[in-house]
Amino acid sequence: MYDILIIGKGPAGLTAAIFAVRRGLKVLVLANPAEPSQMTEAPMVDNYPGILDVNGIEIMKLFEDHAIKLKTEIKNEEVTEIRKEKNHFVVKTDKTEHDCKSVIISTGAKHRKANIKGEAEFSGKGISYCANCDGPLFKGKSVFVVGGGDSALGAALMLEHMGVNDITIIHRRNEFRAVESLQKQIKKSKVKVMWDTIPVEIKGDRFVKSIIVKNVKTKKDQEIPTGGVFIEIGNVPTSELAKKLKIKVDERGFITVDKEMNTNVEGIFAAGDCTDGPVKQMITACGDGAIASTSAYTYVKDKEK
Ligand code: NAP
Repeated sequence: MYDILIIGKGPAGLTAAIFAVRRGLKVLVLANPAEPSQMTEAPMVDNYPGILDVNGIEIMKLFEDHAIKLKTEIKNEEVTEIRKEKNHFVVKTDKTEHDCKSVIISTGAKHRKANIKGEAEFSGKGISYCANCDGPLFKGKSVFVVGGGDSALGAALMLEHMGVNDITIIHRRNEFRAVESLQKQIKKSKVKVMWDTIPVEIKGDRFVKSIIVKNVKTKKDQEIPTGGVFIEIGNVPTSELAKKLKIKVDERGFITVDKEMNTNVEGIFAAGDCTDGPVKQMITACGDGAIASTSAYTYVKDKEK
């Protein structure tokens, strides 16, 4: 019987684990290998205090090493169901079942799809959702990046750094949502911007060959040849497990938590990007994880009394 079973090994999950094992709890972290933390896609992390010049893979390795050094048990299993029994929970995975007294859901978020014609057909064949992973395949090509947030601008800069020849950001409004520092870097770069523009269709044969874009003000469409399209338009939470257990989520699917990271189901806590917190950053996910872990500790100890 584990004291806390943590689902997800991103910043929130691993922080929760570190806090719990240090308190002497028996902890299991389950991670779905098919859905690694989005942090592992970050080309550069430069807003986590005290650590400069690190990429997402490197910092997540430091987190995991830290948790393992403190004797956290981590298993690669996909959780398929959380079941509530009288006095504990049963977490069913693709391999087995685990009993635990409490659960922390820190399953993060997935890339939002643009839902346009050709997107499903050319996904992985010229359409990418991860500049850091796939960028080198587009070296020397011209590409489009869709979006106006931190992810889109970060991806465009990363692609330029990787030697992608000609990069154009397509944004549906006439101002970016991304932080000022990224906007400044874009201005200094060779990246071009098409304002007030949305993608309508992606065409090709075996691989992407062109994109049809629409200017939302003039309503005019144009087809432009391209070697690839990076879709960077935000995230949707991974909250299917929570929904199955009737855990409350908001209208966008983010898990509703209070200040202590309690969900509406006693003994189940949530932390990080899958929750309805206002800021989605590594540092806030870590904070959530620390709070969720502390709340789960209190819950487990109260139950023991
Ligand atoms: P985001 O901030 O939600 O931005 C999504 C962008 O895509 C917005 O500009 C949005 O346009 C646009 N968009 C959304 N749906 C669209 C659609 N269907 N078609 C066309 N455009 C669409 O998402 P994000 O950039 O992925 O960032 C997510 C979170 O992670 C944010 O909190 C961000 O700060 C954080 N993040 C941080 C870093 C970092 O380095 N610190 C890096 C990446 C992400 P509108 O602007 O018109 O809404």
